[in-house]
Amino acid sequence: MKAASMTARRQNLVSCHNCHLLCDAPVPVGKQQVACCPRCGTTLHSRKPNSLMRTWALVFAAVILYLPANLLPITITRAIGITQSDTIISGVIYFLHSGMVPIALVIFIASVFVPLMKLLILIYLLISVQRRSRRRLVDRTRLYRLTELVGRWSMVDVYVVTILVALVKLGAVARVDAGPATPYFAGVVIITMFAAESFDPRLIWDVMEDDE
Ligand SMILES: [Zn+2]
Repeated sequence: MKAASMTARRQNLVSCHNCHLLCDAPVPVGKQQVACCPRCGTTLHSRKPNSLMRTWALVFAAVILYLPANLLPITITRAIGITQSDTIISGVIYFLHSGMVPIALVIFIASVFVPLMKLLILIYLLISVQRRSRRRLVDRTRLYRLTELVGRWSMVDVYVVTILVALVKLGAVARVDAGPATPYFAGVVIITMFAAESFDPRLIWDVMEDDE
């Protein structure tokens, strides 16, 4: 057997999701293959169960929430009797017009660009795995690692928008409240994190085993 094809699955081994202990694969008893990690007790799976279906469902939910998150007002500013609602994009445009380009950029990247890129990358990975693509396996794994890494910092997005807008816009005289888009926006961030988590990057490589 070539070194490249010595996968854990072929050796009847399973790595624990939680503590990464390499265990013997569960022996099939009837249709059930339930086994737990002897070290930490986590249920062992050779691949995350229903990974593609679950990731698709979560990505789909995040795409739906992405619309109200961007179309509804994210902040409502009240100052000297004037009430103004801003969506994420109108906030970005406001900062651009006011000459605060770095703030406009931070809000645009954190709130529009990064969540959209994460969703597009996940959709690309899902489709390429389903089409059993053999192209650029290493790059696709790197893309996945990137979404996973960004996911850990995603909650920053919500704070970036609310705090920056609150601090900068109209200064201390204004009262800034979170608008109706906020829960949708938080939903996009959280659901995208779960979607990245439920995708099993080993699926990208499984196509190599089938080649031999
Ligand atoms: Zn374990």
